[in-house]
Amino acid sequence: MAWHPHLWHPITQVARSDAPQRVVRAQGSLLQLEDGRELIDAISSWWVTLHGHAEPSIAEAIGRQAQQLEQVIFANFSHSPAEQLASRLSALTGLERLFFSDNGSSAVEVALKMAWQWWRNQGSERRQLIAFEGAYHGDTFGAMAVGDRSVFTEAFEDLLFDVTRLPWPATHWGDEQVEEREAAALAVLSEALQTPTAALIVEPLIQGAAGMRMVRPQFLKAVAELVQSSGALLIADEVMTGFGRTGAVFACQRAGIQPDLVALSKGLTGGFLPMAVTMASERIYAGFISESEPTATFFHGHSFTANPLGCAAALASLDLLEANPERYSGFEARHQPHLTALSNHPKVLHARCTGTVAAFELDAGETSYLNPIGKTVQRHCIEQGVYLRPLGNVVYLLPPLCTSDAQLEQCYEALRSCLDQL
Ligand code: PMP
Repeated sequence: MAWHPHLWHPITQVARSDAPQRVVRAQGSLLQLEDGRELIDAISSWWVTLHGHAEPSIAEAIGRQAQQLEQVIFANFSHSPAEQLASRLSALTGLERLFFSDNGSSAVEVALKMAWQWWRNQGSERRQLIAFEGAYHGDTFGAMAVGDRSVFTEAFEDLLFDVTRLPWPATHWGDEQVEEREAAALAVLSEALQTPTAALIVEPLIQGAAGMRMVRPQFLKAVAELVQSSGALLIADEVMTGFGRTGAVFACQRAGIQPDLVALSKGLTGGFLPMAVTMASERIYAGFISESEPTATFFHGHSFTANPLGCAAALASLDLLEANPERYSGFEARHQPHLTALSNHPKVLHARCTGTVAAFELDAGETSYLNPIGKTVQRHCIEQGVYLRPLGNVVYLLPPLCTSDAQLEQCYEALRSCLDQL
């Protein structure tokens, strides 16, 4: 296929990429291409497709809602789908307040702005923000600033605010040095917390875009304890990890931590519609209420705040998630035997798995987003009927929950045959 003369595709170097394939339908785990081929969507279309494509109950919920109330300004008005969603996500996250936006980057921006202004509203001098090496929190300016410096941010570095960076003690199967690296990272955190700190932001359990870099739940727990006992706020960016991806509804639950702010998007609507939320504690919400001081207000809002179609999709998606917990809690055990077999291959390094996410590195030069081996793997797997999008030499699977045993087998078989050819 040729490039369209009027489109600009995201994160794509046209001079070095194949033109995109046209998709005409999607159902369950399968994408149907215009030329008749079918591909297993083994990365859930940038990690959004939760239950499966075209999931009927979500499609029906959106259709019903569209005939009743498609959109209304959310200042001065409220509606039942937003209220139901707020109550349900509040119960699930342990955070009382829900603030709407429309993408993961914005949900992160909102969390950062809430944390910053909350301290300011109290007249506090806490000005340090802490984040991790390798972090990715989105492509808008605040999200870029807390994300680590990378090819994504290089052009904008002069415009990004300073953040204190901590090592991320990523681990993998058979890692014998993890405890030392965790202890070293915690020591850096303790030192950093000597400076008055507004908040720490973390991708809980898995750094996504950095290359599916996983940490142990006990590390996350230790981070949360240090941060919260210092009085700083803990922000969990669950944009990728939320809604069952890590084997629990939220990664924070799996780690046994209770953040003060949580950013959610991607799987929120089951992957049907662009919607995001930032969950905040009642304590934070209360810090914005003032009869006498207008500047205490959180002056942030998006045109499509609380879009009723998105809310209806999210409610239907939560119904599915709650009705079938074994679908996400049991996925790790389904990856396990396949990944174990693959990890014996001499080109496979650092195999790891958390919930629905399985990953490894290819022993093929530097570990980097720009490592060209990823495109070779992608082409081979597409020929085998499996759509992957490796992060450089990091290859990962993050399939929709509906993926059958046979489809999962096909994904691993495509990888096995690719490894043999490399
Ligand atoms: N945070 C994390 C952890 C993410 O993985 C992403 C997207 N990959 C984002 C934020 C940004 O989300 P969006 O692309 O919807 O802006």
